[in-house]
Amino acid sequence: SSIELQDLVQLGKIGSGNSGTVLKTLHVPDSRVIAKKSIPVENKTLVKNQLMRELSIMQNVKPHDHIVGFFGAFYTASTTNEIIILMEYMDCGSLDKIMSTYKAFVRRGSLEASANWFTEPVLARISHSILDGLSYLYREYKIIHRDIKPSNVLINSKGSVKICDFGVSKKLINSIADTFVGTSTYMSPERIQGNVYTTKGDVWSLGLMIIELVTGEFPLGGHSDTPEGILDLLQRIVNEPPPRLPPGLPCSREIVDFVNRCCLKDEKERPSLQELLCHDFIVRGRSQGDRDFRHWCKRIKKRLKEDKMLNREEKERAKLVKR
Ligand code: ATP
Ligand code: MG
Repeated sequence: SSIELQDLVQLGKIGSGNSGTVLKTLHVPDSRVIAKKSIPVENKTLVKNQLMRELSIMQNVKPHDHIVGFFGAFYTASTTNEIIILMEYMDCGSLDKIMSTYKAFVRRGSLEASANWFTEPVLARISHSILDGLSYLYREYKIIHRDIKPSNVLINSKGSVKICDFGVSKKLINSIADTFVGTSTYMSPERIQGNVYTTKGDVWSLGLMIIELVTGEFPLGGHSDTPEGILDLLQRIVNEPPPRLPPGLPCSREIVDFVNRCCLKDEKERPSLQELLCHDFIVRGRSQGDRDFRHWCKRIKKRLKEDKMLNREEKERAKLVKR
């Protein structure tokens, strides 16, 4: 059942990143909500062809519990040239969105900062799903994700955690400058140094991501988006001791060890996806029932809705004050 663009009705904007914009849309024939990502591209045949070739790889990936469903890719050449990717809509959004919503509640004073939503059982679930999705992509298709970060890990209220945005090289989509903005920060030391890139680069990114979800801050310190600022960050990743979960937090031995292993700077020492799937942190975390995690997802969805409403109210109030 392939989807045609003319059967889609736009419902609203979900978000946007460095490369494009994601819209919530309705597929009218079967009343299904799907996500539509538009990426502006240069009108060059070479770029276009290669992009479409890469997207056709995604088309071949069979559905999997931990991979966001893919419904097709299009190239539109109307007034703007863009690639359109249709995918499964995930109604709890991405981990970065959940994290910023949590922070908004803390800022409003309606939540204690210590009540972090990302508890260890939740993090273990999320990590297991990512590791399992990554190992499926590599085992079946030799695909390396290369862009594991909070905004590319999505959750739905049925209790599924899925990864998205793999396979399409960023270089093709944007100019070189853009590839160093924002996303570069989750790159492993060996990748920055230009060595061969394996699935262990994604393991490094996973480690950084967990630290960020526990602490609420990106672990390698801030950086400005100037070329100098980014270069400085890349140098720090290569030269400084590996990032860690800060001491003094109520973290279990298992999560600390898991993160330490993911963040080993030498990729030869860093464990593989398979090895990490057997780590105590993951094994113990899986003992939490599906039911509990589904509850967590449902609660998150409620919070996201509430946040949307509160934001709207805050905006209205600001308007009144201005008058
Ligand atoms: P970058 O462009 O650097 O990769 P990004 O991942 O945030 O950053 P996009 O991939 O364009 O950028 O996604 C924008 C936002 O849309 C994401 O942050 C996520 O919250 C949301 N999003 C993306 N895909 C989906 C989806 N299938 N279902 C629900 N929300 C989605
Ligand atoms: Mg993304």
